[in-house]
Amino acid sequence: MTGSLMVSTYSMWAQFRNCRQAVYWRYIQQLVGLDRDGNLHFGSLIHQCLELWHQRRALAEVLELIGTLCPNRLYDEGQRRDWHNATAMMKAYAARYAAEDLEAVALEKTFQGPIVNPSTGAASRSFVLAGKVDGIVRIGDDYFLLEHKTAAQLDADYLERLWTDFQITIYAYYVEQTMGITITGILYNILVKAKLQQSKGETEEEYEARRAELLAKSKTGKTTAKRKLPETDGEFQERLAEKYTDPAMFHREMLYLSRDRFDILRSELWELTQAFLDARRRGVFYQNTGFCFNFHRPCAYFALCRSNGNPNVIENFYQRVAPNEELRVLPNETTEPAF
Ligand code: SF4
Repeated sequence: MTGSLMVSTYSMWAQFRNCRQAVYWRYIQQLVGLDRDGNLHFGSLIHQCLELWHQRRALAEVLELIGTLCPNRLYDEGQRRDWHNATAMMKAYAARYAAEDLEAVALEKTFQGPIVNPSTGAASRSFVLAGKVDGIVRIGDDYFLLEHKTAAQLDADYLERLWTDFQITIYAYYVEQTMGITITGILYNILVKAKLQQSKGETEEEYEARRAELLAKSKTGKTTAKRKLPETDGEFQERLAEKYTDPAMFHREMLYLSRDRFDILRSELWELTQAFLDARRRGVFYQNTGFCFNFHRPCAYFALCRSNGNPNVIENFYQRVAPNEELRVLPNETTEPAF
């Protein structure tokens, strides 16, 4: 809260549109699941790597950062997977974009501004909007917001959906207002995540079972089968490096902003604030059960909703974390690029 003003973010409004009950759990009760999605770790890791790369253009520093952010990789499988993927991805990214004609004007830039009633021009007395953009870059005489995306796969549908990116369009409006520059469009910097897995090799039992099967099928009663050994880190890195030589693993997409979209989105944002105030006043944050499996997996609050907010479920599966984590300044964060 800023005085009596609540600092709101795009994430909160998007969640409010999708399911009001989820906003109640996250922003009123301040709950997050103990088992947070591992993909979030990878996404945030790559964002920090890209920020450092665009500041300093020093690959060795980026690789060191990956090591620091995956300190338990020797025994934590998730961290090892992220370390491998991020290392191969950033090496290939540095080679692919070693020279480019964009100038980073600001990185990880935060902003905060009023939410305005479009009919009267008056600022909301309940909310301000805050956010953080990955970067602002200059290409020729034009300024673009730089938006990093890590994608599981990149196809025509993915690119088509960028148009619906409410967040970045509204951020462009606020950056214009707070920095006094005109934003021409958005430069989406898309990095595709390799789906390769490091091979664990075979256990002695698995090898014996496979060997017995091959022998049973063999006409000579012999087989040359050998036990598959675990893939070493070096071998896996080589395989990943080969994968990242595919030009389709990186993509830059430029979208030009339409000024009419600004007006539509600002007015939608105002509507959302009014609906939120109404929900809070009446203490009614209704469920949108059509959204529970929207991302092909249960919503983070599924256990909570299914148990009707059972306190034991809260105690065992959730923790209280203050909202708007995305606005937190990270330890290596700076807004000054080294160009
Ligand atoms: S589980 Fe369903 S109803 Fe509950 S918060 Fe999530 S989306 Fe909403």
